[in-house]
This record gives sequence, structure tokens and C-alpha cells, in this order.
Amino acid sequence: MAMSLRMDRITVTALNDGASHLPPMFYPGLDFDAHPGLLETDGTYHIPARCFLIQGDGFTVLVDAGTGPKNMPFPAELAAAAALDPAPEFIAVGGALPGALAAAGVAPQDVTTVFLTHLHADHVGWAAPGGKPFFPKAEVMYGAADWDALIAPAPPEDFARIVMEGARAAGVLRPVDTATVEIAPGVVAHHTPGHTPGHYIVRVTDGDQEVYLTGDAVHHPLQLNSTGISFLSDADAGHALKTREELLARLAGRDDVVVGTAHFPGSRFQRVGVEDGGRTWTDA
Ligand SMILES: [Zn+2]
Repeated sequence: MAMSLRMDRITVTALNDGASHLPPMFYPGLDFDAHPGLLETDGTYHIPARCFLIQGDGFTVLVDAGTGPKNMPFPAELAAAAALDPAPEFIAVGGALPGALAAAGVAPQDVTTVFLTHLHADHVGWAAPGGKPFFPKAEVMYGAADWDALIAPAPPEDFARIVMEGARAAGVLRPVDTATVEIAPGVVAHHTPGHTPGHYIVRVTDGDQEVYLTGDAVHHPLQLNSTGISFLSDADAGHALKTREELLARLAGRDDVVVGTAHFPGSRFQRVGVEDGGRTWTDA
């Protein structure tokens, strides 16, 4: 079920497109033996592919576009490397976003802007599945540096490349390269490189409340108090850590700030509290 956060004039809703099934090797530094509940029976950690809808006066912004209408088979060589036998069927399943949008009362033509926090395959899917834009009236914004880093070098059959080339051919792309950029009134993206060079988080401000949509700047809840956990697809793990620590320090102890993450389990919004033993996630 979708979860909405109603502010004064803006509503933020968490939607889920599907899930990824990741072997422990995707989380360098995370001791899965010490957290036995994390892995499913197929030996992988299941994370949602979450998107967020931001609805305000005259705008409907979708932050991230999920995996899209497809399931990605689990690569045999990855299963072998991770010693998963039998191999899971899929590494990513998508396809739920249109139904979730409809349940929220939003049609594809209602979306005015799609903002992609970065250009990994589990964040761009519905921008242009198979190369054809799914949201006919939406501009698609993304961090320009991700094109050269992730799309240009990818093979022609790469899923994210097909999506982004299709969106480019349709003339809907708007690359951004500034430290901050306004997406809509009260909705601002901040450049937060590290996970990818063109990664942005999105900050929604309404009255005295703020919502931070953190994309993949924070990838796992345990990163809140552990600087030793990274993510396999971090383009620059050291830079990602610096960016994450600056972000978490900015969010910690703020009662007026709510955080929405891309890949944490559940579909709740959270706050970052501060206690004697360290920082804590609490449900908003
Ligand atoms: Zn991701």
C-alpha cells in the first residue's frame, strides 16, 4: 500500500515498482552473519525499487522511475560467484508502478516532471520503457554527469541505455549540472555525487516541514551508524561515504525533517534521531 505524507500544500507519496534480489557481495562491509534476518531463503537480500510522487499546486513530480515493465534474469555468472545454488530466477522484478500510480489517482499524462536521482537501471525504467516515453507530458530531468559515466559507455542492448536513448530521441530530456536545481515550487534537487557522479537527492519544503528523498545516497539502514558499509555499484565508495555522512549529519536530530529512501524495506517515511549510542531510524 502506498504511504502518503501530507504537508501544507504538497503531498509526497511512496510508491513501489518492484524489487531487486541482491547477493551479500553487493554490500561490502556488511556482516550478514551478524544480521541473520536480512537474507531471504534464496540467499539474497530483497530491496524495493521505490519511487516518490510529489503533488503540489500545478505540478506532479515523479522521483525515480523504477525497473520498468520487465523482470531481469539472475545472471548465471553472478549466481556462481555468489555460490547461490539454485540460482534465483530474477535479480530484479518490476512493473508495479503504473498500478500504484493509478491507485494514487494519477494517470501517466498527469505527470509533469520525472526526476531521476541517477541513471542506474532500477531507477530509470518507466521514463521510456523500450525507448518510448511512458509519461507523455513529462520532462525527464537527470544529472548530466551520469550520461558520460553510465549511458555512453554501455553496450547498445543495455537496458538503461535503451531507456535514456529513447527519451533523448523523444526530446524530453533535461540534463542538469548545477549544485542545486528547482524542479517545482518547493521542490529542489541537490547534487550529491559518489554513488554516481550525477547523483541528486530531492528536498521538498512546505511551510516549516521538509522531506528529503535520498535516492541511493544512503543504501542500507545500517549505514546510519557504520561508515564501513558501502554498495557494490558505488562509482566512488569514498566519495559516496563523504556525501552520505554529510547528509546524515544534516538530517540527524531534526524533528521537522522526514526522510524517504529508495531501497529500505517497508514503505514508511522515517526520521533520523540521535541517542547516546548513535543515530536511530524512527518511523515518521
Ligand atoms: Zn538504486
